[in-house]
Amino acid sequence: MKLSDFDKHYPTEKSCIIRFKEMCIQSGVVCPHCGHREHLWLPDSMHFECKSCHHLQSLRSGTIMHSSKLPFLYWFKAIHLMTSPKKTFSALEIQRRLGHKRYQSIREICHKIRSVIGLRDSEYTLSGMIEVDEDFFSTGRDDHDNTPLKRGRDSQKKSKVPVMIESHEVDNPKNTEKPKSVNHLKMIVIPDLKAQTINSVAQNSIEQEAVIDTDASTSYTAFANYFAQHNASVIPPQEISKALPWVHIAISNAKTLLSDMHHGVKLEFLQSYPNEFCYKMNRIRIQPNPFDRLLVVTTNINPTSIIYSIDRSKI
Ligand SMILES: [Zn+2]
Repeated sequence: MKLSDFDKHYPTEKSCIIRFKEMCIQSGVVCPHCGHREHLWLPDSMHFECKSCHHLQSLRSGTIMHSSKLPFLYWFKAIHLMTSPKKTFSALEIQRRLGHKRYQSIREICHKIRSVIGLRDSEYTLSGMIEVDEDFFSTGRDDHDNTPLKRGRDSQKKSKVPVMIESHEVDNPKNTEKPKSVNHLKMIVIPDLKAQTINSVAQNSIEQEAVIDTDASTSYTAFANYFAQHNASVIPPQEISKALPWVHIAISNAKTLLSDMHHGVKLEFLQSYPNEFCYKMNRIRIQPNPFDRLLVVTTNINPTSIIYSIDRSKI
């Protein structure tokens, strides 16, 4: 949806409230008190009233806007901008477009939306032929981290991100085509590059029947035990774009996104950015209106499941 179309569909706070109420009903409003599913809508107070026990729940209750006091229009516009297939917007840019004074409030909206996006994608696993590799994303250092700065791949300024992408060989590719086509992908920030950590992430993300292509890193040695087939190859740097073409394109594009949006993002917030990148990439070919799709998702979530920072105890 173009921004001009968005403004036509949602010109006012009221138009957003009406749409969000429709989406909540479509998702199914459940009484938290007695579990009943039929409600009356009370437009003046913006509450649903349970037809069984008369419990009142606000329109924002149990949604991404739970406990938020910011206008529905802000949330709608942020979701619209963040589902734009062609561009990525920083929280600062979204704040500017909303004309809101407090950056912190808008940044929180953005992180919550990205968290919900990540939760949605975590419901799916990858299958078929999968390219796997990992890369390092530059992050800012934790304010409380006083340990000496390490060099190389263990540096506290480099975060480890395995990238897994469904990549299928193309029959008789034309000269301009790549030898493989791409489907879904996942990027997951991890605290270290131990084989045990990567094995766990891969097992949670990829079907057992999958065929996995990797380089010859010892991090992947155990993949043959977990998946139908594991092809580990020693890949010279000049061959990488042929052997693992899509995983490296994805890494390159994700890094561009991150550098455009936020320099020195803190490790605890890093996962939210790959979440947005993967969500868009996973839907760009199949869903004509990502705004509506994501809006439905935001109406029915457990607010306590919105985690926009990674578990610090595992860092
Ligand atoms: Zn009830």
